[in-house]
Amino acid sequence: MRKPFIAGNWKMFKTTKEALEFARDFRKLYRPSDVTVAICAPFTQLSALTEAFSGSGVKVGAQNMHFEESGAFTGEISADMLTEIGVDYVIIGHSERRQYFGETDETVNKKLHQAFAHNIAPIMCVGEVLAQRDAGQAFDVVKAQVEGGVAGLSADQVKHLVIAYEPVWAIGTGRTATPDQAQEMCAHIRRVIETLYGSEVSEEVIIQYGGSVKPNNASELMNMEDIDGALVGGASLKPEDFIQIVEF
Ligand code: 13P
Repeated sequence: MRKPFIAGNWKMFKTTKEALEFARDFRKLYRPSDVTVAICAPFTQLSALTEAFSGSGVKVGAQNMHFEESGAFTGEISADMLTEIGVDYVIIGHSERRQYFGETDETVNKKLHQAFAHNIAPIMCVGEVLAQRDAGQAFDVVKAQVEGGVAGLSADQVKHLVIAYEPVWAIGTGRTATPDQAQEMCAHIRRVIETLYGSEVSEEVIIQYGGSVKPNNASELMNMEDIDGALVGGASLKPEDFIQIVEF
């Protein structure tokens, strides 16, 4: 049985003061259940958040990480730096990083290897842009992203991988993919994993949908067979919105 996994991606929002206010308010609303819950915050908020959520069951994730151990990489953050402060997850290859910061399937792949080597669970983002969907290329684009991202990973590692399908045209636009569109692509991703690693692995891999997930559409999306979770942007910024999604 795959455990539902709802993660918030705060992107470049919230100062430490605001993050701590969120943690205080969210803890009041949150009751642990069989849904895994994580907040992926900016680097400078991670230490405060691991402390603020300690003992609550809420996990903390980063939004990026470098693939090298250490070195002259000004402005970058290593896996060791994240594990030292108790980070559980790291988002890898978000479409905003692919679009604005030159992330490619190759760097995504290197980062996945590095995350697994340091026991940080990666959330690998894939998804097509609108022009690719309109041109009928969405399934091929996502397949290539998944294959490129997982290259060289072991079956055991892929069992612990989280894949987030985020169609770029649905991010921050209020234009959610329909549950059927999201289901169709998440099932496709599971088949790509099955072809590469077999059904024992593909039945365990957690696949999230992301893109304008809100309190009013979360349960419909979560009810689809191959959608195991959500990666939530805007609606993860307010405790009263995020709790409704967590309790879909
Ligand atoms: P929104 O929920 O704001 O559309 O963002 C989705 C996203 O990019 C999560 O990673």
